This record gives sequence, structure tokens and C-alpha cells, in this order.
Amino acid sequence: MRNNVKKSLTELDQRHFIHPTSSIKQQQEHGPAFIFTEGDGIYLKDNNGRELIDAMSSLWNVNIGYGRKELGKAAQQQMDTLAFSSAFSTFSHEPAIRLSEKLAELAPDGLNAVFLTSGGSESNDSAFKLARHYWKLRDQPERKKIISRQRAYHGVSSGSTSATGIPQFWEMAGLLSTDFIHADTPYELGTAQAIASIRNLIENEGPETIAAFVAEPVQGAGGIIIPPDDYFQEIRKLCDEYGILFIADEVITGFGRTGTMFGLEHWGVVPDMMTLAKGITSGYIPQGGVMVSDEIHETLKEKSEGTLFHGFTYSGHPTACAVALKNIEIIENENLVENSKEMGDEMLNGFRSIKDKIDIIGNVRSLGLLGAVELVEDPSTNKRFSPSLKVAPRVVEILAERGMICRSVTYDSTDIITFAPPLIINKEQIDNMIEILYDSILEVR
Ligand code: PLP
Repeated sequence: MRNNVKKSLTELDQRHFIHPTSSIKQQQEHGPAFIFTEGDGIYLKDNNGRELIDAMSSLWNVNIGYGRKELGKAAQQQMDTLAFSSAFSTFSHEPAIRLSEKLAELAPDGLNAVFLTSGGSESNDSAFKLARHYWKLRDQPERKKIISRQRAYHGVSSGSTSATGIPQFWEMAGLLSTDFIHADTPYELGTAQAIASIRNLIENEGPETIAAFVAEPVQGAGGIIIPPDDYFQEIRKLCDEYGILFIADEVITGFGRTGTMFGLEHWGVVPDMMTLAKGITSGYIPQGGVMVSDEIHETLKEKSEGTLFHGFTYSGHPTACAVALKNIEIIENENLVENSKEMGDEMLNGFRSIKDKIDIIGNVRSLGLLGAVELVEDPSTNKRFSPSLKVAPRVVEILAERGMICRSVTYDSTDIITFAPPLIINKEQIDNMIEILYDSILEVR
């Protein structure tokens, strides 16, 4: 309702804005902690003029950092000529064609076609539907189930919520589909045990009922779970053995985050499908996609009849495609994938250096610029703190007070602090991050 009384932004926020993934009670009690107004490089500024290091690239997505005018220019140019046009049916346009070609060039060999979406959840749901459709076309319609893993995060649409392996995400509306099964994650498990858990599930459910296995190369929201080195090669073998499609959710790990263009490249493994979002536009505009193998694409081409009734209004949005192309150009021209690797090594060295000085730091890890620091009561035994102490959330609050945005993962009684700074970060800024981290952890010690 309109009224002429000037209200504070906080009041308006509380009255009208339902925040995504948030505590509504907390919002009503305290209002937003920050109202951001500007971004530049790795920094965000709020409406009180406070500047913070965004060590999370917002939601692990602002890979090229804030304030790159080229993306705005690319959007404006596209909007001025053809802001939107559908890609349904026989309609097409150059930005979507060029982006598809570019993604095929970047993706591992054998993945040459893409279905475009507007984000990660849409991409994962599309991948699950494409997997089931593929098996229908291959006369195995009973292959419907999707295996994912505990601690996985795949999004909040119906399929992706069900694939997500963090049960808090099922609380709101229940599990939306029973065709999703959750295997063990390799967190604190060796490859053999983690693979055995998936093999057991496949055998128990019946291999002929499984359509696909989905995994993030490095689990993000689950706490930066980097698998053992041989894990994904074993996953690939297992999927091949049972004829199961392997979907890599590269929504966080794509576009340089882990020091390679895509996460699975670390282990030389090629999936059957790869879902993308986030870093594809560095968050400047929503965009996503599912890349499919030549085999899947050929099957669709040869066996599909009639219309494939699956398409979002914004699949292949021209302006989003133009922005994605400009973003990828910046990632390539400025060697941001290499920088992610180099600065990721620096970040990990920094974590290790403070681990030696503070006796509540347990495991520290990073792959490129995707890292984590675990806080534990006793690093020698890895004994965790009582969840009631809320150690990691307290550290994250102190970090913000000291000028750095990070995130905590407390799922399953862990105290994990996560890091995913923009890929443009330099050594001095990494040193500054580590200094703030050190002081903040000391404060809770
Ligand atoms: N997959 C992964 C690995 C993610 O981290 C996310 C979001 O954080 C998603 C999928 C969902 O993407 P979106 O929020 O764009 O729907």
C-alpha cells in the first residue's frame, strides 16, 4: 500500500521484503545487518559507509569482483538492440548461439551442447529431467532415481531441494520427491568407504532404477568438502559399471573458482552432464545452463519425437548471454583461473600459518579460492565444540565487525568457516584476510 510517510529502509525491509534463506524472526527483531549500496573489487560498502572485504564473493558467485563497468556496457548494448527474444521452438538469436559455442569450447572434450537456464536450481532440475528423458528414449523408463550425497547443496526448486543432502532444506515443505537417495559424502571418509556407500545404495535400490548420480566436485554449502584425489575417478568407474549418468554440479566450482576452469578437471574426469550458474556471469545477471555429452545430445537428436516440453521463458535470455560472454572474456583475458590457483595457494598457506598459532584450529583446506577453516575444541583428536557454544557463527559475527564477510557451516555439529573471495584478489588482500581471521578467532578463544 502506498503512503507518503518516509519510512526507514530497515522498517520497509521488515514490512515488505521476505528474504531468501533467512530467519524471518531475526529479521523482524533486528532488521537487516547490512544494506549494501556499492561494490568495488573485493569490497562491499553499506549505507553507513562501512567497507568490508567480501570473502564469500556474495554467494560464491562474484568471480570477477564488483564494479566491472564492461558488464553493464555489454548489457546496455544488448538491451538497446534486442533486450529479450524467446529461444523457444525455432526462434534463436546470436548471443545464445555465441554463448553456447563458447561453453562448448571451454567444457571438457565430449560436452558440446548446452540447455540454458537462469540459475543453479533450474539447471539441476533440468539435468534430472534430461537424465530421465534420456533413459526413456533409450527404452529404460524405469531409470528414474537420482543418487546425491549427504551435505550436498543443489538448490531449492523441487528436484534440487530433494537432491540436497542438508535436511534443514527439507523442513519448509518436506521432501518433494522420494526418487532421490542420499549416499555418504567423502567428508572424513576415505574413497573406499564413500564409494562402498554409493555401491550399496545402487545395489539395494536396483541399478536398473537409477537414472543419475549428482555431485559437486567440491561441496560448497556442506562445508567445502574436497574429496580424496582418487574419489571422482572411482565415481566415474562406478557410474560406468552400472550405466548410470554422472552429473557434475559445477555451479560453484565452474569458471575458475577452484583454480581450474571447471572443478572436475583436477582429477581428469569427464561427466555426462555438467550444471553451471553463478560464476558464468559473476552474478551480474542471472544465468545458468546444463551441458550434455555428445552421446546424450545424439540420443536427443536421433530419438526425440515431437516437442521437448521443457523450457524457461528466460532460457537463453539475450542480455544474460551477452553479459556471460563479456564475463568469460574477462576471466580469460585477465588469467583469473591462474590467479585463483596462485592466490588459493597463498590463502591455504595463510590458514596453515595461523593454525600453528591458535589451538582451536583443526583441519584447514582450500582448492583454488574455495577454502575452509574448521574450529575444534581439541585439534589433536578433532573433538568438536558443543553446538550450543555457536563458535563458528560467533567468529563470523566478529569477522564482520572487523570488516570481512565469511560464512559458517554448523551442519552436523561442525564449526566450519568458509572462504570464496573474488578471483581478482591479490597477495596483499589475502594477507589482510588472514590477519582479520587470526584476530577474530583469537577473540573467541
Ligand atoms: N548447486 C550448488 C552447488 C550451489 O551452491 C547452488 C547455490 O548455492 C545451487 C546449485 C543453486 O543455485 P541457485 O541458487 O542459482 O538456484
